[in-house]
Amino acid sequence: MLLLSDFPLWFPRVMTFVWGLLWGSFLNVVIYRVPRGMSVVKPGSHCPGCKTPIPFYRNIPVLSWLLLRGRAACCGVRISPRYALVELAGGVLCLAAWEATVAPLGIHVDLLHASMVFLANASLCLALMAAAFIDLEFMIIPDSITIGGTVLGLATFAFRDLELTDALIGAAGGFLGVWLLFDRLYRLLRGFPGMGLGDAKLLMLAGAWFGWSGALFVLGAGAIQGTIAAVISLVTGRGLDDPEAVQREREELKAELEKLSDEEREEILAELEGDPLLEEAGDGVGRARIAFGPFLILAILETLLIGRERIFGWLLSI
Ligand SMILES: [Zn+2]
Repeated sequence: MLLLSDFPLWFPRVMTFVWGLLWGSFLNVVIYRVPRGMSVVKPGSHCPGCKTPIPFYRNIPVLSWLLLRGRAACCGVRISPRYALVELAGGVLCLAAWEATVAPLGIHVDLLHASMVFLANASLCLALMAAAFIDLEFMIIPDSITIGGTVLGLATFAFRDLELTDALIGAAGGFLGVWLLFDRLYRLLRGFPGMGLGDAKLLMLAGAWFGWSGALFVLGAGAIQGTIAAVISLVTGRGLDDPEAVQREREELKAELEKLSDEEREEILAELEGDPLLEEAGDGVGRARIAFGPFLILAILETLLIGRERIFGWLLSI
């Protein structure tokens, strides 16, 4: 049996960081293609400017972007630094997942077990990072990530000192709680939902990973961080407009609706009832929409990588 102590200390750290860099590179593809309904496998990476396929040796995470100074090798079109940042964040998240969830097991742990724990936790971090970027840009959280993440959480409950019943109750409670309170009740009181179903599914994921008390913590921490960000963006005068991609989609939808007969329009409007795409964000904080998902995701990552006890400890020591 191979033990972690059979390897030098730097080895798993370099491996996990590189693992994260490579997946970060793939996540750039996911973030661009999944919300546009495109395949993440085909076609392979190509230049956004001239569509030339990018050979693997020019697609080295972070390094290629730095060496080419943020330009494509083929036609010199500017490549957004976001690509390199997503890759770097992937590396940092995977290294953090190792340090936070595997390193505490000690060096005399079975390598296979250590790898399994790492893979589960790192996969969650990477998938959630992609979901955060997609939500920021399109105000959608893909089901494949929230539902897949929930299943992964239920399958790996034993890695986190959690009972299976606690994980199941957490997942069900997380989803139902948000759905009943922020969708049904909120809609009844104010006429529009306070949070989307994507947020309810994120809370379901949080419950599957950390139990019902963890889901509650994620909801609270996400709400506090989201509120702070909303206040900062209002105070600095940046406002709370919908993301560009959402505004563009709304304009396109309106143009399409204009072309239809009254009957067809009624039908489509009935189908889209309650879809945030139809309503523009109103004035004032109470009416403004911000993507809440990224703040819930931040809270989930904090819970996984820092831990509730340590966060409470910090807060109490202030
Ligand atoms: Zn090019």
